[in-house]
Amino acid sequence: MPRILPIRHQPALPLDRLILREPPSAETMEMDVLIVGAGPAGLACAIELARLVKRDQETGGGMADLNIGVLEKAGSLGEHNLSGSVVNPRAFRELFPELQLSDLPFRQPVPNEAVYFLTGSRARRIPTPPTMHNSGYYTASICEMVRWLGERAEELGVNLFAGFPADALLVDGQAVRGIRTAPSGLDRERQPGPGYSDPTDLTARVTVIAEGTRGLLGQAWRAWQQVRSPNPQLFALGVKELWEVKRPLDAVVHTLGWPLPTNAFGGSFMYPLGPTQVALGLVVGLDYHDASLDVHELLQRMELHPLFRPQLEGGHLLEWGAKTIPEGGYYALPERRSGDGVLFAGDTVGFVDVPSLKGIHYAMQSGMYAARAAFAALKADDVSRQSLSAYDRMVDGSYIVADMRATRNMRLAFKDGLYVGGVKAGLMTLTGGRFPGGRIAMAEDARTPRTPSPAARFTPDGALTFSKVDAVFKSGNATRDTIPSHLIVGQDVTAEVAEFYSHMCPAGVYERVGNELRVNPPNCVDCKATDVLGPRWTPREGGSGPKYRAM
Ligand SMILES: Cc1cc2nc3c(=O)[nH]c(=O)nc-3n(C[C@H](O)[C@H](O)[C@H](O)COP(=O)(O)OP(=O)(O)OC[C@H]3O[C@@H](n4cnc5c(N)ncnc54)[C@H](O)[C@@H]3O)c2cc1C
Ligand code: SF4
Repeated sequence: MPRILPIRHQPALPLDRLILREPPSAETMEMDVLIVGAGPAGLACAIELARLVKRDQETGGGMADLNIGVLEKAGSLGEHNLSGSVVNPRAFRELFPELQLSDLPFRQPVPNEAVYFLTGSRARRIPTPPTMHNSGYYTASICEMVRWLGERAEELGVNLFAGFPADALLVDGQAVRGIRTAPSGLDRERQPGPGYSDPTDLTARVTVIAEGTRGLLGQAWRAWQQVRSPNPQLFALGVKELWEVKRPLDAVVHTLGWPLPTNAFGGSFMYPLGPTQVALGLVVGLDYHDASLDVHELLQRMELHPLFRPQLEGGHLLEWGAKTIPEGGYYALPERRSGDGVLFAGDTVGFVDVPSLKGIHYAMQSGMYAARAAFAALKADDVSRQSLSAYDRMVDGSYIVADMRATRNMRLAFKDGLYVGGVKAGLMTLTGGRFPGGRIAMAEDARTPRTPSPAARFTPDGALTFSKVDAVFKSGNATRDTIPSHLIVGQDVTAEVAEFYSHMCPAGVYERVGNELRVNPPNCVDCKATDVLGPRWTPREGGSGPKYRAM
């Protein structure tokens, strides 16, 4: 069978629809600072900004009140956030110096930690690589953290607009002036149905885009402004489950090896979330080679392994979800993350250190820097690219970029497979990132050819292992069936490509029926894997998608 090159079947980014040069509508809502995305980056930005204004006013600085708004596509805060999550509390401490660690929204301190190399039937404990030490950190639910941050933001007078997806950037010349939201209440043919509401235009003096992984607005802006990076951004897909368990887990656990093929990059995590809950997930680089690799299914198989099974048996699945992670690291950072009237923070930029699987504190810290740059620009009444470029300088001089630089080639080394990559990563750690010299060049994930192979059959038992249909139910997704498709599918999808998409999507949105592709858009949990390797993802009616509670 011929190999599949995903990029050949992927539609182009719909730039015309994402960058709108028309003037905002007459009923536009005007704000001073508009933040897109109520994740750790967006909310830390809002909180820091509101505090800077307050402090300035209290010390006689003369800053007027600012109208700060945060737009979120989920129906309520936290419902679209998913993470491991082991949190480095550094950014929380800086944002809330007045609070004790026990006041912060964490579940528990990291107790012990263990790393295992798995084969199909055994688990061999290996020394914890220096990049994977988590002592002094905390396990947490990102949904809970986001809801807590949202409350802090509201106390400071920030306006939170949940259920409002930003659909396009409103621009004027080279400047970003705000966003247009997605309409709601359309029927399958995109005609206004019951409960229809028009898109809303929101304008601002500064727009901060904190839309998370594989951000659409960020992609559009970089393409429009021709902002480059040395390497393209790479992604991994993480599928995660939250379990109620009978036995407490006493360590933060990571594994390498099985069930992944040796030419795929990734690993699993299992984290304790208090005495009765465990978070479990599998993360796989989207440059895998086997077209029938299915991350959801691999996670299900993994749960039957002797390392995991005794932990889960007798318990039950509480929640399921999926999300991509930007993995390109230092060399995939865009050369600038600021422009006229606009700043970009968090995962949409790619501030994630892959060897340690950490992004939350970098997202928050970058949001805080964005707040400082926006505050200074507004105070000086100059929101030009030059003025806002102070943000880039802050990020470049910070621990965010320093940490990413130290591990700059580590993920990239694994393009040669697990064993060669493992040896190279060890040398990189020993030399503080200096080995092997320059940059390892990478291509976009969609340019990695995929080899079709017969998929091994797996039948979930409904107790320890679950089908994609059951999994989507556990994500809380109750998107109405009559919603128009938000996925832009290419023209030439062959039977083999349809098969590849059906394995790639963890939520069963794509199915191969005969030789055709069938698409079930309401199932989508916004993980964005499709946007990396297949049909393009676009925002849809606010409140659609998953309703995570404690991911
Ligand atoms: C499986 C997995 C495990 C991870 N484990 C860890 C870990 O243990 N520790 C760690 O530190 N990091 C971990 N990370 C990474 C971490 O979760 C991210 O780096 C972090 O969440 C990034 O924060 P953010 O605010 O940039 O993006 P997000 O948390 O993704 O928030 C972005 C927000 O923007 C909203 N949004 C997106 N588009 C729009 C739009 N168009 N309009 C309106 N709203 C929009 C989203 O709904 C979301 O609420 C993990 C990630 C994954 C997927
Ligand atoms: S269709 Fe939705 S759930 Fe499926 S891969 Fe794409 S973004 Fe993820």
